[in-house]
Amino acid sequence: MFIPSSSNTVWHSPTVTRERRQALNRHQSVILWFTGLSGAGKSTLAHAVEERLHIAACRTFVLDGDNVRHGLCADLGFGDEDRRENIRRISELAKLMLEAGVITLTAFISPFRADRQQARQLVAAGDFIEIYCKCDIDICEQRDVKGLYKKARQGEIAQFTGISSPYEAPDNPDLILDTGRQTLNDCVAQVLDLLKHRGVFAYA
Ligand code: ADP
Repeated sequence: MFIPSSSNTVWHSPTVTRERRQALNRHQSVILWFTGLSGAGKSTLAHAVEERLHIAACRTFVLDGDNVRHGLCADLGFGDEDRRENIRRISELAKLMLEAGVITLTAFISPFRADRQQARQLVAAGDFIEIYCKCDIDICEQRDVKGLYKKARQGEIAQFTGISSPYEAPDNPDLILDTGRQTLNDCVAQVLDLLKHRGVFAYA
C-alpha cells in the first residue's frame, strides 16, 4: 500500500550533509544489494563483508530479510504485492542510510527485476551496487539452511521463491558471485575488490 506524502510537509535540508559524513568516515557510502534465492548466501556474505569493513573502520549496517520482517515489515506477507512493498520500504530505508554516510548491505531475495530496478533508481548512479548470488536451486535446497525448502516441497509454505513463486535473475548486475561453487572467502574478496575499484573504500 502506498501512502502519498502530505502536501503540508516540507523537506528540511541538513547542514551536516552526506559529503561531510563521508569525509568524517573516510569512505564513501553505498548500497550493496545482495539478491538471490533463499540459501544462496546473501546473509552470510553480507555479514562476512561487513565484518571485514568494520575491522577496517568503516561504518556499516546489514539490513537482513528476516530481521526487517520482524519489525518494519511485520505487517507484510509473501504475495507479489507485499513483496513489492517490502522492497520499496527497504529501498527507502537504504536511501536514508546512504545519506547517513553508511555502507549499507541488504540481504533480501528481492525476486522481481522491476522492484530492484526501482530501488536502483531511487539513488544516483554508482550508489547502488547489485550483487547477484548465483546458486543453483538444487544446491540451495541441499543446504536448506532454515528448513524452508522442505516445508515448501511439502506444501506448508505457499509462494516460495524458486518453487512456487518466480525468481527473476538480474540482467546486468554489478557483480555475479558463484556462491554455489566458490568459497565464502573468494566471494568476500571479490566484493571488497569491487569496492576498492569503485573508490568506495581504500583501506581493505
Ligand atoms: P540466504 O541469506 O541467501 O538465504 P544464507 O546466507 O542464510 O542464505 O545461507 C547460505 C549458506 O550457504 C550458509 O550455510 C553458508 O555457509 C553457505 N555457503 C557456502 N558457500 C558460500 C558462499 N560462497 N557464499 C555464501 N554462503 C555460502
